[in-house]
Amino acid sequence: MAKHTVTLIPGDGIGIETSAAMQRVVEASGAEIEWEIAEAGASMVEACGTPLPDSTIEAVRRNGVAIKGPVTTPVGEGFRSVNVALRQALDLYVCLRPVLSIPGAGGRYDDVDLVIVRENSEDLYAGIEFEEGADETRELIEFCRSAQAGAIRPDSGISIKPVSVTATRNIVRYAFEYALEHGRSKVTAVHKANIMKHTDGLFLRVAREVAKRYEGRIEFDDRIIDAFCMNMVIDPTQFDVIVFPNLYGDIASDLGAGLVGGLGIAPGANIGDGCAVFEAVHGSAPDIAGKNLANPTAEILSAAMMLDHLGETACASRIRKAVCQVYAEGAVLTADIRKATGSTHAAASCTEFTDALVAALTS
Ligand code: NAD
Repeated sequence: MAKHTVTLIPGDGIGIETSAAMQRVVEASGAEIEWEIAEAGASMVEACGTPLPDSTIEAVRRNGVAIKGPVTTPVGEGFRSVNVALRQALDLYVCLRPVLSIPGAGGRYDDVDLVIVRENSEDLYAGIEFEEGADETRELIEFCRSAQAGAIRPDSGISIKPVSVTATRNIVRYAFEYALEHGRSKVTAVHKANIMKHTDGLFLRVAREVAKRYEGRIEFDDRIIDAFCMNMVIDPTQFDVIVFPNLYGDIASDLGAGLVGGLGIAPGANIGDGCAVFEAVHGSAPDIAGKNLANPTAEILSAAMMLDHLGETACASRIRKAVCQVYAEGAVLTADIRKATGSTHAAASCTEFTDALVAALTS
């Protein structure tokens, strides 16, 4: 087996605990990984003056593959999201988030198996914002008024929502190619094209154009985001591969996670043409950070996706099998899963749960 060098960014909060757990499990799977640790996150602001040092971006670029813990982003102020900055710097235009039932994890359904493909580079996450009261904001408001584009209240803040033909074509094509490669039968595009004609309308139009090239091989349909949410809750098994503009994809990821047992088990990947960064859907969970309570499954399943990407599919399968075994046995499960299953059994710590996974892998 070849040895792979992977950049590991532990991140903030529970990322420290879940990353350590992930490393132990990957090692127990037999995968030969050399970890190159790189830092990012709130703790780096004091040390380096930035939450995302250039050396971290360079490390990911050099190795081509990274796994990352969550990073805290201040709400409504402070530095911009490290995740958004990393995705933009490395052109990680695909966010891939499988939503899969794990028997024993307390999901509302036992048979969910769908994949969220989220556009990762534009939409309201482009970070083009105008502060309320600033000169440029006033100019923009005046421009909209004079161009008869619509009246904006003078005390508004403004975020720009760019949706391009290029990025939409890339993400929808990725969704179809993923479906072909993984033996899936349908792609659904989700939008709000009835209201936002020039952004979501464009997304839908381009999705339909791309879909034509796959006619007869992969089915295609579309849903309006609000109806999609209701349909997901009522019957998620009707979906297969689902492609979203950035914001709806972010929200739908947590919705999907909630249907199968919660954020503790939801993995993900950010993929570009040159690099891939694997990371759980969840955030840094400040409410439980440092208490050895976190569920590391999401980061561990993200590592399994990473091993698939590296061609180490046997190690990835061993990890998934061990996860399923520990959940099916039900003896050693973290507090979030005890809560999701309504169980009164004592919850395991992050370390105890990891011990059980390592034992399942090495016995
Ligand atoms: P969160 O995902 O951190 O937490 C939401 C809830 O889920 C909390 O109650 C938390 O305890 C629980 N939870 C999350 N992951 C868990 C796990 N592995 N095991 C057990 N319980 C888990 O979301 P939030 O509280 O909205 O965000 C906290 C911070 O994380 C914010 O600064 C946010 O910007 C950041 N964030 C980062 C990422 C990322 O780096 N990829 C993603 C989302 C949020």
